[in-house]
Amino acid sequence: MRQKLARYITIFLCIAAAYGLVFYLSIDDSPRPKNEVLSSPQSTQDQAETVEEVKEGPYDETLTITAGDTLASILNRLGIPINQVHEAIEALSSVYSPKDLKVGQEVYVVYDEQKEGETYDLKFLRLRADFENDIELVRTGEGFFQATKYKKKLKHSYVAIEGDIKVSLYADALRAGASPKMLYDMIKAFSFDVDFQRDIQPGTTFSLLYDTYKDEESGNERPGELLAATLVIDNKPYEIYRFQPTGSVPGFYTPLGEAVQKALLKTPIDGARINSGFGNRKHPIKGYTKMHTGVDFGAPKGTPIMAAGDGIVERCGPFSGYGNYICIRHNGSTKTAYAHLSRFAKGMKKGAKVHQGKVIGYVGATGTATGPHLHFELIQNGKHVNPTKVTQLPKTKLLGKALQEYKAFKEKVERIRIEAKKEGLKEELPSASKPKVLEEA
Ligand SMILES: [Zn+2]
Repeated sequence: MRQKLARYITIFLCIAAAYGLVFYLSIDDSPRPKNEVLSSPQSTQDQAETVEEVKEGPYDETLTITAGDTLASILNRLGIPINQVHEAIEALSSVYSPKDLKVGQEVYVVYDEQKEGETYDLKFLRLRADFENDIELVRTGEGFFQATKYKKKLKHSYVAIEGDIKVSLYADALRAGASPKMLYDMIKAFSFDVDFQRDIQPGTTFSLLYDTYKDEESGNERPGELLAATLVIDNKPYEIYRFQPTGSVPGFYTPLGEAVQKALLKTPIDGARINSGFGNRKHPIKGYTKMHTGVDFGAPKGTPIMAAGDGIVERCGPFSGYGNYICIRHNGSTKTAYAHLSRFAKGMKKGAKVHQGKVIGYVGATGTATGPHLHFELIQNGKHVNPTKVTQLPKTKLLGKALQEYKAFKEKVERIRIEAKKEGLKEELPSASKPKVLEEA
């Protein structure tokens, strides 16, 4: 049936070509050989008779995933037999989960006619797993599938952007070419010191320095990290550098080495209400009056719980009456704890680094609990304090060796900035004077 249809299409295409017409065919339910080599016919009549000699596959196609597609469904549609589809997916699963395919993603497939029957053999498949990795599936001579993950070579470079604010930091920096993600990070980092509604006036200047990774094959670019940012408001400079002290999480620091103050999330869970506040209360199960060392948020089982701030997981696991419990250390004096979790998020373990807002686990009723809720604690200098009252982390300053490391890092960042500015100027030159060959990463 398919071969018959394919033959009719071939004949039709040859007739169309003979008349010098360009046709665009779209038949979704049948194979659409794109690179089939057609012999140039002497006449349309010859063609109809010699169609059996027309060179057949292999064919290749780039398929785009649409809503409701699975890898199995698109391969089925090509006419690949179901047992081969299963074998291919099983081989792929060792390096990639086909469930991760997203709408709009492209899958390149090479397939060929089978000796018998109306189905096709899958020969080769390639797809992009993520920004840095390609997946290839090859059918070996013995008919087995072999899947391999390839790390793409990305060009690492730095971007330095500066300008004046005429409308807003976001609008003007975006126009100057800054990445939206980097601007978001910059605004977030400055929001502890700068009131973006009130302080930013026309005439304020800004600068940012960040790194990017470019896939030179596709031209796609992924911003890395914001390294440094400056705002000059009324001649007063606000400068920050992103630095990771040894054994700690990265953060933004002023030129003197003071951490940019970070607020903790007051409610580490979305749309929850406080069921029970901090302080003395009658214990709901044991009956006697007891100090409640945290705040209880009522929420359905499975509601995601977020880290209240950046930090390192100090404890993760069952902990007596607390049930499933996580404790995060935010700095030398501040910790937050989360209890009665139904389960932990992937990757949560002692020593794991978390960022503010990252999902760390899910609401449950493990340990001593009457129903699903999050018991949330804030511990400062070893004492439980009311998390709804204290939301600022005390300022921390880099000292001693950490400060020396930071100063050296800052100098390096400034050298990078000078180089990145030079590179930026090069790119603004007319294209004729640009070097033709790009440097290797
Ligand atoms: Zn509680």
